[in-house]
Amino acid sequence: MSDSIDTPANVNIAQIGKLLREHQSFVLISHVRPDGDAIGSQLALGYALLAAGKNVRMINEDGLPDNLTFMAGSERIELPPAEPLDVEVAIALDTATKPRLGDRALHAASKAKIWLNIDHHISNPRYGDFNLIDSTSPATGQILYELITELDLPMPAESRDAIYVAVSTDTGSFQYPSTTAKTYDMGADLIRRGLDVGTINSQIYDNFPFRRVELMRALLNTLELSPDGLVAHWTLQDQTRIDLGLMPEDSEGLIDIIRAIRGVRLAVFFEELHDGKVRISMRSKDRSLNVCEIATEFGGGGHALAAGIRMSGPMEEAKPLVLRAIRRHIDQAGL
Ligand code: 5GP
Ligand code: MN
Repeated sequence: MSDSIDTPANVNIAQIGKLLREHQSFVLISHVRPDGDAIGSQLALGYALLAAGKNVRMINEDGLPDNLTFMAGSERIELPPAEPLDVEVAIALDTATKPRLGDRALHAASKAKIWLNIDHHISNPRYGDFNLIDSTSPATGQILYELITELDLPMPAESRDAIYVAVSTDTGSFQYPSTTAKTYDMGADLIRRGLDVGTINSQIYDNFPFRRVELMRALLNTLELSPDGLVAHWTLQDQTRIDLGLMPEDSEGLIDIIRAIRGVRLAVFFEELHDGKVRISMRSKDRSLNVCEIATEFGGGGHALAAGIRMSGPMEEAKPLVLRAIRRHIDQAGL
């Protein structure tokens, strides 16, 4: 019995199969400011369940972001309705903590009798009645691929494409160390099932709005490199967001530009939010520098090599606090 009471063990895939078979109505929810893995996971499981004859609603606190409207079937992603939905089962996908589902989404799902929590964040506290947390998986989409194939659920084109988008976007296009042979086997299987890999990559990666490149220019003007070259960071001010008419998804993935600097072990993206809070994204290139641990010190979370924080501002106070914590971890790691 290695699992304590507050971290219940994973259910196995057969138990999830039973849960899915024995119920008819589901609400699928992903985290605020959804990315490709969040929406992709909802569509992947959502369309598999729909094809199996289930009643499915897919809701997100912030709705479908513009950059993912190309995804087949994405028009079914709804903002949370004001009244709680009449559903038996709520399924949280790719969401490290329950509050990250958002207040309106939680209210909409409040009549669900059973909560299933499927995720790949190591920091996930297993807040579901049933939990399937696999932190070795590079994306929640890959866990769902395994679930769908092992349970012999239908995999319509919407699910197939959504799995690919989920995994590609969460692995930096199949690059991060979390990418394994299983991930590439899965990719090959999706192509055999009819995925048009060229078209879908072009929809994900060759179709950014011009304002995103303007954002890159603005960010580069704020770029700072620590004297030892180990930490690179840049900052997005709220005024820039207003001036450029930015959407939340416009900054997604940009941190990879400074992560890619030779010698940099840790990249940080500081972002001022409208509500006065500060959002921080961190990427580590070094297993000995665990950014999830740093994020957890400030109430955030994520993975060892990619983590985030949402904390109170103002920026002038938040930034030095986080940079000091980073420096302490670098010293502890002996870098
Ligand atoms: P990103 O920097 O791409 O927004 O997030 C990196 C990883 O950290 C993602 O897996 C994301 O779910 C997690 N993450 C980002 N922000 C937060 C946060 O405020 N709280 C928690 N618990 N996790 C976060
Ligand atoms: Mn994910």
